[in-house]
Amino acid sequence: MQTQMLIGGRLVAGEGPVEQVLDAASGAAIAAVASASTAQVNAAVAAAEQAFEGWAQTSPKDRAALLLKIADRLEAEAQAYAALESHNTGKPLNAALNDEMPAIADVFRFFAGAARTQHGPLAGEYLPGHTSFVRRDPIGVVASIAPWNYPLMMAAWKIAPAIAAGNTMVLKPSEQTPLTALMLAGLFAELLPAGVVNVVCGLGDPVGTTMVAHPRVRMVSLTGSVATGQKVLAAAAGNLKRTHLELGGKAPVIVFDDADIAEVISGIRGFGFYNAGQDCTAACRMYVGERVYDRLVADLTQAVRTIKVGRQQEPGVEMGPLVSHAQRERVAAFVTRAAAEPHMQITTGGKARAGAGFFYEPTIVAGALQTDEIVQREVFGPVVSITRFTEADDAVRWANDSEYGLASSVWTGDIARGMQVAARLQYGCTWINTHFAGVSEMPHGGFKRSGYGKDLSVYALEDYSVPRHVMVRL
Ligand code: NAD
Repeated sequence: MQTQMLIGGRLVAGEGPVEQVLDAASGAAIAAVASASTAQVNAAVAAAEQAFEGWAQTSPKDRAALLLKIADRLEAEAQAYAALESHNTGKPLNAALNDEMPAIADVFRFFAGAARTQHGPLAGEYLPGHTSFVRRDPIGVVASIAPWNYPLMMAAWKIAPAIAAGNTMVLKPSEQTPLTALMLAGLFAELLPAGVVNVVCGLGDPVGTTMVAHPRVRMVSLTGSVATGQKVLAAAAGNLKRTHLELGGKAPVIVFDDADIAEVISGIRGFGFYNAGQDCTAACRMYVGERVYDRLVADLTQAVRTIKVGRQQEPGVEMGPLVSHAQRERVAAFVTRAAAEPHMQITTGGKARAGAGFFYEPTIVAGALQTDEIVQREVFGPVVSITRFTEADDAVRWANDSEYGLASSVWTGDIARGMQVAARLQYGCTWINTHFAGVSEMPHGGFKRSGYGKDLSVYALEDYSVPRHVMVRL
């Protein structure tokens, strides 16, 4: 197993404390990864800075050729990457291999193409005797910090647009799930010029904090919790770094009485519990019209009881464990507090699974009210709350009454109503009659405390570059 970091094109062992990496499905240690020392973080930033000028000047075509090679290799080695990802996070191998790996390769392919076809305003003589035009240039060294829920995919979302735009970078995966990013580091050592991507490991504090505070880092990109986003933003103020923050979510799901309820049930059974609900866009907060509420609670409860929970390679497994003991404790505490309120009913689930690993049962909390903690706060686990509504305006108002603003969905048989509600929702994404699907061409990112900055799409390429005006006196 590749457990060394990548600094200046060389794979090197960390000189800092060793972190144990666990298999979430058994709780057993599967690797020991040494963290970067402060000197190694500084060396990674220096290597990225040294590589910047050369990389920024490579043509989009040449950068694209390397991104395409990365995509080809990820595809060719998909089985090995997926096996490692699923071994560490506990997620079903099938999901890692057949859902995540194709999407990850596609992100590199999309940015390979997008880097070659950027658009801007026309060059022209906006002042007589002068020609003006706009360039879009890279920013410099980007520090990227990733979470544990989709370790390789989040790394891809950060690396591909940053280097396609001509930046160089230092990536830190989560200390809980560094293995696939380190495997990718091995590939970069082979394919990329030294220093273009550096990978360092370790805890948020001190490794992440050292990256964020570093005066030669020009931009910080974080996917993580709101609390970490606030700390990163405060630290980035030191030298006014650009920040790109993809933080938490609490996606509302509005189900009108005229929705196709069978579709809703099968949708939420999938999109509420995929990746054990550890997804910032998970369909976790339902508002259901009063005429269909009772049927929906009953049918969804039945459907959720059939979700097959198990280890990575159990036949037919649909849902794995949570990532850690601490995450399971956190999820369990939310459900225990909800269950203590007489107006809420846990219609299925509501407890940890006995035995090894960090499993928690798929859980439905019915009868939740807008002010309840389970409706307001991100649980980041396999827990879906259901709230009844009578007036459509209440459903929209409640959906927007959230500190989060990442993703949302509306389910209705009336497409005009779906469009009208979508226009009123304050979320980075609204799906109509589905939830969860993303594509490399469309932006992903939020409002409010879900952060700002876009992943995927040409908007990410814009976030990782600066428009510049060049004026020539004729
Ligand atoms: P986290 O905030 O605990 O950690 C994220 C990363 O930040 C890790 O690599 C961690 O080591 C690092 N970090 C922690 N403290 C830091 C600090 N002070 N300075 C610099 N780096 C620091 O989040 P997590 O628990 O790994 O991930 C779960 C969270 O991520 C959830 O809130 C989830 O909603 C969010 N998330 C958001 C998106 C999105 O696209 N918006 C996607 C996935 C996950």
